[in-house]
Amino acid sequence: AIGDQSGRVIITSETKDKANNSDHFIKNKLHVWCRVTNGQWDLGYIQSISGDVVCVMLSNTDVIKVSMEEIFPANPNIFEGVEDLIQISYLNEPSLLYNLRVRFSKDLIYSKAGPVLIAVNPFKSVQIYGNQILSAYQKKALDSPHVYAVADAAYDEMMREEKNQSIIISGESGAGKTETAKYAIQYLEALGGGSFGVENEILKTNCILEAFGNAKTSRNDNSSRFGKLMEIHFSAKGKICGAKLETFLLEKSRVVQLSNGERSYHIFYELCAGASPILKERLRLKAASEYNYLNQSNCLTIDRIDDAYKFNKLMEAFNIVHIPPEYQERAFSLLAAVLWLGNVSFEVIDNENHVEVVADEAVTNVAMLMGCNSEDLMVVLSTCKLQAGRDCIAKRLTLRQATDMRDSLAKIIYASLFNWLVEQINTSLEVGRLRTGRAISILDIYGFESFKNNSFEQFCINYANERLQQHFNRHLFKLEQEEYEGDGIDWTKVEFKDNQECLNLIEKKPIGVVSLLDEESNFPKATDTTFANKLKQHLKTNSCFKGERGRGFRVSHYAGEVLYDTNGFLEKNRDPLHVDLIQLLSSCKCQLLNLFPTKMCHKSLNPTTFSDSMNQSVIRKFKGQLFKLMSKLEDTTPHFIRCIKPNLKQLPGIYEENHVLQQLRCCGVLEIVRISKSGYPTRMTHQELAVRFGFLLLDTEISQDPLSTSNAILKQYNLSHEMYQVGYTKIYLRTGQIGVLEERRKIVM
Ligand code: ADP
Ligand code: MG
Repeated sequence: AIGDQSGRVIITSETKDKANNSDHFIKNKLHVWCRVTNGQWDLGYIQSISGDVVCVMLSNTDVIKVSMEEIFPANPNIFEGVEDLIQISYLNEPSLLYNLRVRFSKDLIYSKAGPVLIAVNPFKSVQIYGNQILSAYQKKALDSPHVYAVADAAYDEMMREEKNQSIIISGESGAGKTETAKYAIQYLEALGGGSFGVENEILKTNCILEAFGNAKTSRNDNSSRFGKLMEIHFSAKGKICGAKLETFLLEKSRVVQLSNGERSYHIFYELCAGASPILKERLRLKAASEYNYLNQSNCLTIDRIDDAYKFNKLMEAFNIVHIPPEYQERAFSLLAAVLWLGNVSFEVIDNENHVEVVADEAVTNVAMLMGCNSEDLMVVLSTCKLQAGRDCIAKRLTLRQATDMRDSLAKIIYASLFNWLVEQINTSLEVGRLRTGRAISILDIYGFESFKNNSFEQFCINYANERLQQHFNRHLFKLEQEEYEGDGIDWTKVEFKDNQECLNLIEKKPIGVVSLLDEESNFPKATDTTFANKLKQHLKTNSCFKGERGRGFRVSHYAGEVLYDTNGFLEKNRDPLHVDLIQLLSSCKCQLLNLFPTKMCHKSLNPTTFSDSMNQSVIRKFKGQLFKLMSKLEDTTPHFIRCIKPNLKQLPGIYEENHVLQQLRCCGVLEIVRISKSGYPTRMTHQELAVRFGFLLLDTEISQDPLSTSNAILKQYNLSHEMYQVGYTKIYLRTGQIGVLEERRKIVM
């Protein structure tokens, strides 16, 4: 197993090795990592062993007794802070953690775990970016781990192999995915700049996307609330000739509802702070604190962020992507309409809680800004049309229903605006006629989430992560094994444990969570509880599923178990779009609102509601998008970047070991470790081996071919046969063996 809940990585054969090694460790007073009571790791050395109990003297000279399982061999100093974790001799959690920590303390935020780049967020500016460094990577004068190096490798491979590439960035919220993606794009823009003029636009579009799609959350002051794939196209000569942006699942609820201390989308605050007096007047705009949608969370500003300045930057970006001023203003009108919608209030008019809209400035402003009739707006917000036989009757809404209707309108407007912007950006970045089909796609998608309360959104996000993880596994296993086979070593294929069972649980037809959710969403009488019961009834045989009492269910994801609460699942999945709202929107003079497919507006099918985009449930649409994404990625050579958040405080210089460890596990870095453990993680060319270890050889042996020289060295060092393989170009060593070689080298020297 790759680490149980208590955090050990124990592989039986390794434990045995350890026992065999322990004499050696005691005799030579070699360092070991020992887990002390608070869950932290400390260095010490073994004094004695009896049975499974080990006596360890810690660095502060305390002697403690622990179980053998709490002990891991530490690495010789030459492995301190290595660039690639695969160079670590004894591969175990404390050693990985320590290695990354040593690097982090020297501002070496990038490391490699075999083919994967690990990026630890420094939460401060580190002098490792910019033109000078960038061109050093370009000239191959630098090759230490860096996002530039990843982008460079992707570019080279694209040019050399004429194959599309992808850079897949993952990590938890605030780990640095979006920043990393920006640096990757910066590098590619510099590399592929030139003829077409779009290359300066790509990074600028980020500014727009971040204004409309990012918000301050408790985890990240600039958290992206959508997933994105940026596809950069290159000409045959390697120049950028266009780009295409695709977004995934924007968090709509944030427009109307905020947790304490969080903010809505940046753009609202930026608009309120930065709009010119004239614009403010035209939009009837007030300060952010005046709007209910913004002032509900006791958080209107972000430390060190100047919203007005950001607004000016945004206007510049709008111009760069050629959004004409009149459209910019229409977009702002809609934003103001959303804000005023939140201030629309209702008055209860009978004892059944039925309401009518209070005819104040809020509602007149909304109507003015949307370009619709304010009477119509008030009717839509307080009544709903019902089909009674052939007649259509209007029924008054209750306070709760009316509030939902109002919020629903706000969310539709905002989501439509966001989609419209993405379209505008795409038009502006459009791939020219010069198509060569070479592209690098950069994926910045929300990472695995497990909170105290997990809802539909977490389910979708974690589902996406399962898919990506499968891609990751399959690819890394394949690569590894191909290298062995390619270099002609004796290799029995390792079957890897994939996460297919969990994916089956989610997407198998007709009984997986997705299908069952859709089925229940179509039953008008279904509730979240009936849905939960259905899951429990049908899925109990899947080993990744556990039913809970009430509305809950648990899923064993690759990154850990998550307890979901089905509360709200059905409603969020249906995402009902009221016909009345659609009709209102289609009557609006504001052109940006004509974003709904017209056939939908004229369709008088279901009298009350129908789902977003023609009866497609949210999860079905998401699944479709995900499948498209995966098949696109399948056609590329992937480059993986795993971002790590060193602390929850978002502060520099703090490395919280347990938190880092949890992420190393979550984002599967330990998976790679495990793969490496079953293989030969240390590779050296024959020449490298000869230079470091070959000084004992006789001249006659050295004169032979490199392959035989390596064989001779390994024989001389008495390495047992199952510990290494000799390939055509390299020697491959099992975990820990390079350490053994080093030890023996010291003895003979
Ligand atoms: P994510 O997209 O993973 O949620 P972000 O990319 O938004 O996280 O990063 C969160 C914050 O961390 C950024 O706003 C920035 O302050 C800081 N940060 C991330 N990466 C870097 C970096 N390479 N150098 C300096 N600061 C960084
Ligand atoms: Mg982000």
